[in-house]
Amino acid sequence: MNFSDIVGQSVLVDRLKRITQSQRIGHAYLFVGPEGIGKKTVSDIFVRGLLCKSQGHRPCDLCRSCKQFNSGNHPDIYRITRENRQSIGVDQIRGMLEGIRLKPYESDRKIYIIEDAHTMTVQAQNALLKTLEEPPGFTTLILLADRSQGLLPTVLSRCQMFRMQRLTKNEVCSVIVKHLALPGDKALLFASLSDGIPGKGLQLAGSKEFNDVRDEVLEFLAGIPEMNDMEKMGYRDLFIKHKDKIDVVVDIMMLWFRDVLACKEAGNSSLIVNLDKLPLLKGQASLYTIKRISNAIEKIEQSRRMLKGNTNYQLTIENLLLSL
Ligand SMILES: [Zn+2]
Repeated sequence: MNFSDIVGQSVLVDRLKRITQSQRIGHAYLFVGPEGIGKKTVSDIFVRGLLCKSQGHRPCDLCRSCKQFNSGNHPDIYRITRENRQSIGVDQIRGMLEGIRLKPYESDRKIYIIEDAHTMTVQAQNALLKTLEEPPGFTTLILLADRSQGLLPTVLSRCQMFRMQRLTKNEVCSVIVKHLALPGDKALLFASLSDGIPGKGLQLAGSKEFNDVRDEVLEFLAGIPEMNDMEKMGYRDLFIKHKDKIDVVVDIMMLWFRDVLACKEAGNSSLIVNLDKLPLLKGQASLYTIKRISNAIEKIEQSRRMLKGNTNYQLTIENLLLSL
């Protein structure tokens, strides 16, 4: 992976390239963005670029430093994560920073990477702060955080912040196609459910569980036009079973009705996401009025908001089922 392989994030990538080429390197950088957005991917290229020995484009992937990084054995890189714990504690930070005043082994610089930095306890952050206030000239700290909330203002003010942007649907689609070698029409579905987060799209695309849930939900959705209220209520158990991933279930429902609407209104398949179900969607479009589809979309959206709030789960689901 190099900068040219990063999809999206073009403003950020330009900034990072300029820093690695100029070698005017700061003492602390903070990458912020939701889980799965690509913080580790992007920051790893950046770190490799900071240490790269090439006189040309950095990282070169050919010099000793780049090779050591790629094999996971760079002697001047120190990395901590929260592993299976809830948070990064003060002992972990102290342990990492123990030899921070010692010169680098091979490079001009030592890099300390703190993943999941948003989970650092206050004591851990205070321990880090001492280093952030007076860092040895040859060190750079890289913090990766899902969000900046939870980080002390004193920590934030000493880091240069890089915000990672969500990608467009097409950008996520291209990431999925590239990494999983899926055809574009299949990848589009997962991209549509990804919220612009490539890691989420990849995870859904590779998940048998997701595909099973989708099959179950689509079976229900396809039957709706012929169901009476009793039959609809019979599907309550499906929603109770998948309570822990109701977000995904609701997304699947939403995309389905949008697709039915697209078939109905325009007959325009370029808007359609569930491309593998195109004949079924066309059949469905003939069974609904536009008003009923719009109404369903509205009810699903409303239920999504209610489920995020503190409402009675079963009651919300029952109302939703009856309104479709
Ligand atoms: Zn290199």
